[in-house]
Amino acid sequence: MGEKSKKSEYKRIVAKFGTNLLTAGTERLDLEVMATLVGQVARLHQQGREVIIVSSGAIAGGRQQLGIAKERKDVPSRQVMAAVGQNALMHSYEQLLGGHGITVAQALLTKADLSDRLGYLNARNTLLALLELGVVPIVNENDVVAVDELEGTAFGDNDNLSGMVANLVDADLLVLLGDVAGLYTADPVKDKSARLIPRVDRIDEGIEHLAGGTRGRGIGGMATKIQAARLATASGATVVIADGREQDLLLRLAKGESIGTLFPPATTKIESRKRWMLAGLATKGRLVVDKGAVVALKEQNRSLLPAGIKAVEGDFKRGDTVDIVSEEGERGKERGEFEKIACGISNYSSRELAVIKGARSDRIESLLGYGYGDEVVHRNNLVVL
Ligand code: GLU
Repeated sequence: MGEKSKKSEYKRIVAKFGTNLLTAGTERLDLEVMATLVGQVARLHQQGREVIIVSSGAIAGGRQQLGIAKERKDVPSRQVMAAVGQNALMHSYEQLLGGHGITVAQALLTKADLSDRLGYLNARNTLLALLELGVVPIVNENDVVAVDELEGTAFGDNDNLSGMVANLVDADLLVLLGDVAGLYTADPVKDKSARLIPRVDRIDEGIEHLAGGTRGRGIGGMATKIQAARLATASGATVVIADGREQDLLLRLAKGESIGTLFPPATTKIESRKRWMLAGLATKGRLVVDKGAVVALKEQNRSLLPAGIKAVEGDFKRGDTVDIVSEEGERGKERGEFEKIACGISNYSSRELAVIKGARSDRIESLLGYGYGDEVVHRNNLVVL
C-alpha cells in the first residue's frame, strides 16, 4: 500500500519520446501523436508536476525536410539532418505546448559536456531553474557536435541520455516511451507465448539477456532502455518502459497505475555529487576488489583500503573517479566481466595503487615514501550500488 501512495507522489518526471513513437512508424514526424503526448504533458503541468521531455525525432524531421533517403545513415548525414530537424522539432513543441500556455526551452546535451563536473552542475542548475519558472525543457543530444560515438563521448541514443537527465535533475520518475509495451519474456514479434514483465526489482544478467545483451539495440531498443533504467534506478528514480500510444498513458502512470514494465528505485535519494559519480561520465579506471572488501563496502559502510584491492585497471590520477568491481561472481570468473559494486574518488593514482594494492594501510608510507591516508576511497566519497 505504501507503494501506491508513493507512486502517486511523482513530482518531477522525465518523459522520453522515441523516434518510432513520434513518427508512428513512418518516415515523418506525426503531429497528431505529438499533440496527444503534449496534451498529457500539459495536464501533468497543470497538476503541479515538473516535466522534462527528452525527445528524439530530430534526424527523422530533418530527413523528411531534406528528402534524404532512409538508407543514408552515416554520421555526417545524420548530423546534417539533426541540425535541420531539431529546429522543426522544437517548432512543433513550441506550437503545441504554447497552445496550452506553456513555454518550452531547448537543451542540447552531450556526454562530454556533462563528464566535466562543472558542465554537469551548469546543466543541472539550468534545467532546475527552468522547471522553477514553469517552463518545460525539451532535451535532445547535440547530434551536430556529438560525433565520437566510438570514443564514448556521445550518448548515441536518447534512452541513455534520458537516464542521464533523470540522474541530473534527481527525477522521481523516468518514463521511456516507445512503441513496445514493455520488457517481455521473449521477443513478442517472434514468440507468441512471450509475456510482458510488469515489474523488475533488480536488473541482473537475466534481465540484460532478455533485453538482447548490453551492446546491441535488442528487442525494440530494449538494451539501451535497460541501461537507462539501471542508471536512473541507481540514482533513486522509478523507471517505466511503456507504449506511448496507450491512451492517457503519462497521466495514468503519474497517478500510480501500473502499465508496461516498472523498475522501482534501487536506492533512496542520494546527493548530487554522488549521482554524478554514479553516472560514470568521468570514470577513469577500475579497482578489482576481493570478497572482504565487498562485504566491508556493501554491508559495513566502510572505506576501501589497499588490502582489499586485487588489481588496478586504467590510468588515473589521485582525485579521479573510479569504478569498484568485485572479482567474485560467475561473470568475473568466466568472462572477466566484473560486477560493479560501487564507485568513488580515489585518493591514490593508478601508479601508486599498483605499488600498494594488497598491502596493509600501515605499510603505505614505507612502500611509497609518502601517504595520503589509510583509505584508497574514503566512504564519504563512495557510492555503493
Ligand atoms: N538524437 C536523435 C534524434 O533526435 C535520436 C537518437 C535516438 O533515438 O536514440 O533524432
